[in-house]
Amino acid sequence: IEESEKFRIEYWELEEAKLRRMPAPKPLAARVALVTGAGSGIGRAIAGRLAAEGACVVVADLDADSAGRVAEELGGPDRALAVTVDVTSEEQIAEAFRAAALAFGGVDLVVNNAGISVSKPLLETSARDWDLQHSIMARGSFLVSREAARIMGEQGLGGDIVYIASKNAVFAGPNNIAYSATKADQAHQVRLLAAELGEQGIRVNGVNPDGVVRGSGIFAGGWGAQRAAVYGVEESKLGEFYAQRTLLKREVLPEHVANAVFALTAGDLSHTTGLLIPVDAGVAAAFLR
Ligand code: NAD
Repeated sequence: IEESEKFRIEYWELEEAKLRRMPAPKPLAARVALVTGAGSGIGRAIAGRLAAEGACVVVADLDADSAGRVAEELGGPDRALAVTVDVTSEEQIAEAFRAAALAFGGVDLVVNNAGISVSKPLLETSARDWDLQHSIMARGSFLVSREAARIMGEQGLGGDIVYIASKNAVFAGPNNIAYSATKADQAHQVRLLAAELGEQGIRVNGVNPDGVVRGSGIFAGGWGAQRAAVYGVEESKLGEFYAQRTLLKREVLPEHVANAVFALTAGDLSHTTGLLIPVDAGVAAAFLR
């Protein structure tokens, strides 16, 4: 008994020493965030919220024009930097982090938000569709997180990595095998990286949104028409339709996803890692497709 008690005390002393070394999260006003896909929709709202909280923001997007516009919206060069980056390119990702370091001295908050949807029913999904979807969302977010972990590890001050996954990471959406599979991949990246990076004080969490129609380029670019056809509603009524099928009878807007990113990174959830928060007004809880 004495031996096991001694072991228990030594173990906890060691754990406490580790915790003391663990950096507490810095307030958002002292942080630099890099948000992929921040030129539009959910990413733009996240970038806006983080900037409003005082963070410097790197607006990283494949679309240079929209990235530039959002960076201007956020207050220009002192507050926000537009970077053109294709998340399928290791070189461009490294370059984006270098640009962030030059502009703002480093990065300690990264949001994996960039995405597309080429989802179709199984028999219409080509190998090319599958590869494209996975190269951007599964492989792209892996590459961004790997660079983030490398930089945050060098800085030695911990940090946050947040994935914008989806309700479809957990529940089967209709007719979208490629899209949903990449979202499930991202959700597991959250857990895997939370486990691997925790000792460095790097938290890895995610958000599972659903039905964010307004402002979404993904919805406007074909996904909305496909969903409307699947549900048998007019595309212009899709936002309303999604709202009505939620438990809260509310439409989910990009800002609501941004609120969750704020909650995960602002400090109050400093002891939370590996968590995916649904922002879907209750759809997943009720298992509504
Ligand atoms: P959006 O089209 O408005 O935004 C996506 C952004 O990603 C665009 O600005 C686009 O240019 C950028 N992008 C695309 N490919 C890129 C690449 N290779 N490299 C860098 N940037 C690239 O769509 P959104 O609805 O705001 O979606 C944002 C994220 O939220 C996506 O990951 C999406 O899967 C996820 N999501 C959206 C919903 C929803 O209801 N809208 C639900 C669940 C999850």
